Amino acid sequence: MKIKNVTVFGSGVLGAQIAFHAAYHGYHVTLFDIKEELLEQAKLKFEQFKPMYQQDVNATLTDLDAAVSRVSFTADLAVSVKDADLTIEAIPESIQIKKDFYIKLSHLAPAKTIFCTNSSTLLPSQFADETGRPERFLALHFANYLWKNNVAEIMGHSGTDPEIFGEVVQFAKTIGMVTIPIYKEQPGYVMNSLLVPWLMAGLDLYRNGVADAEFIDKTWMKTLGADLGPMAMADLVGMATAYNVTKSYAELTGDEIWEKRRDFVKENFIDKNKLGIATGEGFYKY
Ligand code: NAD
Repeated sequence: MKIKNVTVFGSGVLGAQIAFHAAYHGYHVTLFDIKEELLEQAKLKFEQFKPMYQQDVNATLTDLDAAVSRVSFTADLAVSVKDADLTIEAIPESIQIKKDFYIKLSHLAPAKTIFCTNSSTLLPSQFADETGRPERFLALHFANYLWKNNVAEIMGHSGTDPEIFGEVVQFAKTIGMVTIPIYKEQPGYVMNSLLVPWLMAGLDLYRNGVADAEFIDKTWMKTLGADLGPMAMADLVGMATAYNVTKSYAELTGDEIWEKRRDFVKENFIDKNKLGIATGEGFYKY
């Protein structure tokens, strides 16, 4: 199938970026959110993206204006999906919200439509049944600032049709993504499966008083010729995200080590407003 019409559900942090980016690469995009005023805010976000695209990917104003003209906005779910070849869902990271949403969507979308979720932590199999078309459902996971952090992880569940998987990989390539096909379900995809343990290893060395942040980073950087170590990376990602990750793993696993990490991050960083680069201090001062 030739994908032409793309519908994005949710106009928040990632949804607005995905909609704008697909339109920038020539797709006809419909952006859905639950309230009209959120769609008005999305239009303002598009204006903010324009200078970033000019700076980061040398985009011209003509191309950026054309991108905006290819997006339509609606708070009517049936209207949003009526001609969709491909949908990308970027609504809140809650299993119940997603399940309820897909049950509604399953009654409205044409049979041809492929459903993708941008979920960061949930697995497609957790709500594949609710989509009513598990074989046409999979994850297409983007990173924040996707026009420059242009990696897309594509992950089906055991019932995803391999042909549909291939079509989504192709689609992601057409919007300038470096595609990472993932062959079996993996919480955290490839990226967070690598990043989270590395950040936590650094945090544990620091938390247990084994070495200072600066020397933990120096060991990694000098030995491997890397630009950043785990402590500087944590400051860059932000300690609020570090806190959210430790909190959700503590809830998910009930494991004491995650509770210790969560409490340490809260007491030493969150409560002191040391959120990393964003607030001028984390493990380092900026
Ligand atoms: P967000 O909170 O910024 O946006 C969510 C949007 O969904 C909001 O505009 C909200 O109005 C809308 N919404 C709420 N309830 C809805 C419903 N029932 N139906 C339709 N829309 C509804 O969230 P976000 O950060 O953009 O994250 C969205 C998804 O993308 C999550 O699954 C998240 O895991 C994933 N994700 C986020 C990031 C990130 O860096 N923020 C990165 C990769 C993936």
